[in-house]
Order: sequence, then structure tokens, then C-alpha cells
Amino acid sequence: MFQFVMTPEQIKLRDEVRGFAKSIPREYILDMDANKIKYPREYLQEAGRRNLIGLRVPKEYGGRGLQWEDDIIALEEICVNGYMFGCTYGVTGDVVPEALVHFGTEEQKKKYLPAICSAEKFAAECLTEPRGGSDFFGSTTYAAKDGDDFILNGQKRFIVGGEGADYFLVYAKSNPDGGPTNSMTCFMVEREMGVKTEYLYGLMGCRGGGTARVVFDNVRVPKENVIGEVNGAFPIFYQMMIPERFGTAAMTIGAARPALEIATDYSTKRKAFGKTINKFQGVSFKIADAVTKLDSCRSLMYMTARAVDSNAGDALCRRLVSEGKKFVTEQCWDAVNLCMQVMGGIGYTDIYPVEKILRDLRLSMIWVGSNEIMSLITQHEWYGERKRELKNNTKRNSEVDSVSAFDEDEKIYE
Ligand SMILES: Cc1cc2nc3c(=O)[nH]c(=O)nc-3n(C[C@H](O)[C@H](O)[C@H](O)COP(=O)(O)OP(=O)(O)OC[C@H]3O[C@@H](n4cnc5c(N)ncnc54)[C@H](O)[C@@H]3O)c2cc1C
Repeated sequence: MFQFVMTPEQIKLRDEVRGFAKSIPREYILDMDANKIKYPREYLQEAGRRNLIGLRVPKEYGGRGLQWEDDIIALEEICVNGYMFGCTYGVTGDVVPEALVHFGTEEQKKKYLPAICSAEKFAAECLTEPRGGSDFFGSTTYAAKDGDDFILNGQKRFIVGGEGADYFLVYAKSNPDGGPTNSMTCFMVEREMGVKTEYLYGLMGCRGGGTARVVFDNVRVPKENVIGEVNGAFPIFYQMMIPERFGTAAMTIGAARPALEIATDYSTKRKAFGKTINKFQGVSFKIADAVTKLDSCRSLMYMTARAVDSNAGDALCRRLVSEGKKFVTEQCWDAVNLCMQVMGGIGYTDIYPVEKILRDLRLSMIWVGSNEIMSLITQHEWYGERKRELKNNTKRNSEVDSVSAFDEDEKIYE
């Protein structure tokens, strides 16, 4: 994030998180990548000790009561250690608390939020199932009513933090005959209620974050653990798009940044044809492009944070968050590829971490809703916006600013 748009408190926060990220030993990062660490419990506990988990959670529940404009600064810094640090940190501290803060009862907030913010307990979010993630409302995890309780049966797949989590925010079908707006219920399920997890995926990158299969085999969940209304998960799902997708975008910038720093430094030391390679425009222009990509991502993040923090409208925020997630993750992916190219063959080896950054970062275009789903939402909200604009009729009609604009015979639509 650009320092000149930051308040003194935000600069302090950035430096604080930067200091925390710097304190993580390299062995810890390597052990996660080697799957020797299955879930970064100690890392999250240290973040909790420093009161860095749940930055946007209100202070009375253990957070810092900050806004998105602050949170995105922290998320960028956190992810410099590796994408999975941001994923686990974001899921337990940003994503699951969002549901509790916006839809939880007072009892639920008091019970779960302080434990999550202090990292006494860890949380995971369970949407995706073996049968699919994009078609979320087609869920086949069922919650059947049994007296005052619900009995959950089904499986969730690829759940970040699943291996280490104590709490699982689970979406399940509770009204099989309903449509998207009235068929699903959101639950806070505790591991002790009988949740089973299996750490079994051979991931390309993003290892060590506890990504697991989560199994519900007749798990009894009391009605006190329903978040929001029974059959009312729809508005929660919509709200959660913000921390899932906006948070992911902010994190991705941080994950890409070290590649740019490493490639920049390398290009000023590595020589070819008698000069350092940064003297070739074919190289330095790649660095320029990577810088431009990351800066344009930050600009979009900052504007979107302002939109969300100031409640600029649900539809607009949904569009900005969705287009931002797609744009930022693709720009960051391109930027890291440019950096790898600058490094030549050595960039493809594990002598430098650029190959790990590339492996890790690929996830960003797939998870929390694939980038195709981001386009689906962006176009949907944009067409709606344009329809409202036409109805309001306050803008110039640019369509008639052409010589033959009124040649109706040529304006054929059917
Ligand atoms: C490492 C990792 C961590 C993850 N962490 C979590 C987590 O913590 N919690 C969680 O719930 N999930 C998690 N996921 C799951 C992730 O969010 C899903 O993989 C993702 O949403 C896509 O779902 P899918 O894999 O079932 O693909 P599918 O839904 O089967 O989609 C396959 C392809 O079809 C495309 N597609 C589908 N529908 C459309 C459409 N209407 N228009 C255009 N294209 C479409 C998709 O974009 C994709 O390219 C994680 C995944 C991974 C790999």
C-alpha cells in the first residue's frame, strides 16, 4: 500500500505487521512447504498474542475494531511470508468472524470471537464439496432437524485450516425443496461435536495450511449454533464474499511482492554481454511492467476498501470485490511470471523462492470462487447498474455522437 495515503496509525500497523512477518524463521516457511508442518498453529498463536488476529472484529470481542482500509495493509504484509500464511490467517481472523459479527447472536459472539482473536481456537470455512464449489447452492451436505438439534451429514473438500480448526463454519442444505434463497443454513460446528478431518491432498503449493477433507457423519449440532436464520444462509454467503474475495486479493499482492524484490535485485547483479541485465530494456521493462501491475492492484484495493468501509452500496461493492479479485490475482500471477523470466534458469530452481511463490500463488485464481465466477458476478452487477443508469437518464447518451447515428435502418438488433 502506498504510504502517502496512510494515516500515522496505518503506518504503525504496517510496521507492526511487517515486524511480525520478519520474525518468522525461514525454517518455518520451508517446513510448511515440505508438509512437515501441517497447520501453522504456533505462527497463528503468536499473531494472537500480538492481537493481530481479527483486526476488524470489534474491540469488545477481542479484535481491534479496524476497517478494511487498515486490514488490507496488514494482509499484504502477512502474505510476504507465503500465500498460506495469509490464507490461514485470513480464514480464522477475517472470514469466519465476519459471519459472527454480522449475523451471530450476542452469546455466539461472546463465545467464539474472543477465543478466535486470541488464537486459543482456530476456525475454518466449509463451502466446497466433492461434487463442486462453484455451484454452491447445489450443496449435498444435509442438515436434518431432530428435535431442537440438527443432524449434519456430508463432506466438504479442500478446507484451508481444516486440519487445525476447532470451529467450522458450515453451510448445509436444510430445506431440500427450497431455492438458493431459502434452502441452506449456516452453522458454527465445533470439532468436539464429532467432526472428522483428513489431511490428504498433494497440493502444488500452499502447503502446510491444514487444507483438509472435512467429514460430517451424523454430527449433532444444537440450534444455538445456527448462524442467522434457519434456511437463511443466503445473505451470509453474500456478506462473506467480501472477506473471502477482497481479503484474497489484498493477500495476493503481498505474496507477489517478494518476487519483484528478488528479481529487481538479481537484475542489478547478474551480468550478460558485459553488463548487468537491468541495462537491457528487455529485462528492465519486465520489471517496470511488474511494478505497474502491483501498483494498479493496490490502487483498486484501496478504492474498494473505501467503498466497503463507507457502505457505498451492496451491488457496487459486490462488483468491485469480484472484479478486484480477478484482476489482482491475474496481475499478480503475470507479475511473478515476469520476475521468473528476468531470473532466467535459476528462477526455475529452489535456489530462489520465486518458483515457490509461483506455485503458491496459482491458487489465488481458483479458490474463494474461481475467476470465472468473479466474471459472472461482475457482469451481472454491471448490467444491473447500466439498466439503472438508463432509467435515471442523467448521463449523456454517447450513442448518438456519430455521423449516422439516426440511420435507424442500420440499427438492427434482431
Ligand atoms: C488449496 C485449496 C484451498 C481451498 N480452501 C477452501 C476453503 O477453505 N473453503 C472452501 O469452502 N473451499 C476451499 N477451496 C475450494 C475452492 O474454493 C474451489 O475449488 C473453487 O471454488 C472451485 O470449485 P471446484 O473446485 O469444485 O470447481 P468446479 O466448481 O467444478 O469448477 C470447475 C471449472 O468450471 C468453471 N465453472 C464452473 N461453473 C461455471 C460457470 N457458471 N461459468 C463459468 N465457469 C464455470 C470453474 O471456474 C472452474 O474453472 C480450496 C481449494 C483449494 C485447491
